[in-house]
Amino acid sequence: MRDGEAVIVILIGAPGSGKGTQSRKLSMSLSMPKISTGDILRSYTLSNHPLSDKINSIIASGSLVPDDILFSVISERLSSPDCDRGFILDGYPRNIQQATFLDSVLSQRKHRLVVVEIVVPEDVLIKRIAGRFSCKSCGTIYNQYFSKPKQAGICDQCGSSEFYYRVDDKESVVMERLRAYQLQTLPLIEFYNQRNLVCKVNGDKSSDEVHEDLLSCIFDKTPKIS
Ligand code: AMP
Repeated sequence: MRDGEAVIVILIGAPGSGKGTQSRKLSMSLSMPKISTGDILRSYTLSNHPLSDKINSIIASGSLVPDDILFSVISERLSSPDCDRGFILDGYPRNIQQATFLDSVLSQRKHRLVVVEIVVPEDVLIKRIAGRFSCKSCGTIYNQYFSKPKQAGICDQCGSSEFYYRVDDKESVVMERLRAYQLQTLPLIEFYNQRNLVCKVNGDKSSDEVHEDLLSCIFDKTPKIS
């Protein structure tokens, strides 16, 4: 990172655009934590968190969890010392209110904000989500049609043999998630464009190529849509 400057990367993209995979790769390349609000909320549903039933049913329906819950999730996570040198946001903000809240949290920090929109055609998104499964232990994401583990049933990254399918990856729920993305999250592109912060990448390429384009966005801020 330039002169110890904290860089905050916001990944915006529809479900299936590769935010999870790319945030994991960026986290490794940049040695910064990746913060997935979806992962944090899913972890609540597996614990005896007081809101676990409510959050579980909202996630399973494909709608967005209320902002007040997200505000406390994000304030708590960003106050952790591992975020001091920057971080990658995967799945937050999801609407203008969340972006405004983030601005207020960040107003006290010296940082450079980079917003990347990962663009993928809708038919590709649906195919990607249909076969998606993840390692239970390290979260690595696979697809039964495009990117299976090298050895069947064994995670390439951590060797675990336990995997899971997300409850909200069913086709009917995916349509609701895409709708929520178009109505509530896409307006964020205009919100951040007004501050000239957005870099677009074509997410319909290999994950290594998308990763390279993301790094170019973060370091050169060159818009890459190819
Ligand atoms: P994701 O793993 O990012 O696809 O998120 C899965 C689900 O968690 C979403 O469909 C929402 O129900 C919920 N969720 C995750 N992040 C947010 C957020 N920033 N605001 C509201 N709901 C969220």
